[in-house]
Amino acid sequence: MMNGEMRPMRVLVTGGSGLVGKAIERVVKQEGGAREGEEWIFLSSKDADLTNPAETRAIFKKHQPTHVIHLAAVVGGLFMHLRQNLDFLRKNLAINDNVLQTAHEFDVVKVVSCLSTCIFPDKTTYPIDETMIHNGPPHESNSGYAYAKRMVDVYNRACFQQHGRRYTAVIPTNIFGPHDNFNIEDGHVVPALIHKTYKAKRDGTALEVWGSGQGLRQFIFSVDLARLCVWVLREYEEIQPIILSVGEEDEMTIKDAVDAIVESFGFTGPVIYDTSKSDGQLKKTASNAKLRHYLPNFTFTPFHKAMKETCDWFAANYDSARK
Ligand code: NAP
Ligand code: GDP
Repeated sequence: MMNGEMRPMRVLVTGGSGLVGKAIERVVKQEGGAREGEEWIFLSSKDADLTNPAETRAIFKKHQPTHVIHLAAVVGGLFMHLRQNLDFLRKNLAINDNVLQTAHEFDVVKVVSCLSTCIFPDKTTYPIDETMIHNGPPHESNSGYAYAKRMVDVYNRACFQQHGRRYTAVIPTNIFGPHDNFNIEDGHVVPALIHKTYKAKRDGTALEVWGSGQGLRQFIFSVDLARLCVWVLREYEEIQPIILSVGEEDEMTIKDAVDAIVESFGFTGPVIYDTSKSDGQLKKTASNAKLRHYLPNFTFTPFHKAMKETCDWFAANYDSARK
């Protein structure tokens, strides 16, 4: 894709060292997703602290991007949100305002930011769709993160209204894959349980799952999401965000995910559900009808195949993985 002056894209990926950033790197560098002449720059927090306006400006000045995929965020699982709701609000508000406003000032043609299905109203009808983001308060467990992410949508609409910029956002469901944060206290459910299962097998102990296991989630493999993010950058013209998710029929319980991890590792020890711990949001069933309208033939990696690849990656990279 060319920008307005017909130069090849120079894409800055914020959060390029994380779960989704690494998957996009794989898609554009190893799977031939980049086109001739394009440049893809993957940033980590070591390149610039994006909560800091001066550092944000400096990194945009250095790279002069024409396009941005904005992934950088303070990210974590339910139990980190319960401890640090305020940090999620303030740091993500700062990162998003700095990145979006600096992109505008540097004449970036398009920004694709990353929201999440946990930002939707807690009390809602199902399935959730793209029109419902601001229809009521989010679940209180992650309200700081949710309100910071909602403001990206508000920014994008205002920036179109005032400056005609076509900045947009994607809304993924729960993501998993290689290069995730496998920290047991702070990580999302899949990476935390992969780490716990690895240790339980190694140490001959029980696997402890937090909560009842009855919560429902739609899991998307990071590499599938990465392919879709590249498509959004190239082809999707709307300001309104798009949900990137497997279908409603692929929603599963946390227990189903636990069973897939246990199977991938061949773990045969006891599995305990600690029901004194929170289940968080019971469900946040999202519709992928809009995605299917645009891409009726997109094929998602089968869940068990993606889970096996992720567990194998963690075992093979145990020493260097984020944990
Ligand atoms: P991740 O693996 O935790 O990666 C976060 C990225 O943000 C890292 O590259 C990190 O850099 C960078 N970052 C954090 N704070 C920063 C700062 N102050 N300045 C600059 N960079 C900073 O997260 P992810 O799972 O890939 O998430 C990517 C996006 O998807 C996020 O916007 C997230 O909200 C969204 N999302 C994630 C999920 C999920 O299940 N994981 C679900 C829905 C939406 P370092 O590596 O240097 O720390
Ligand atoms: P959420 O999807 O935004 O709620 O975030 P998570 O990815 O952290 O998933 C939370 C769900 O997984 C809740 O229903 C938890 O009870 C359940 N869960 C089970 N075990 C764990 C665990 O070890 N870590 C996390 N983060 N969640 C777990």
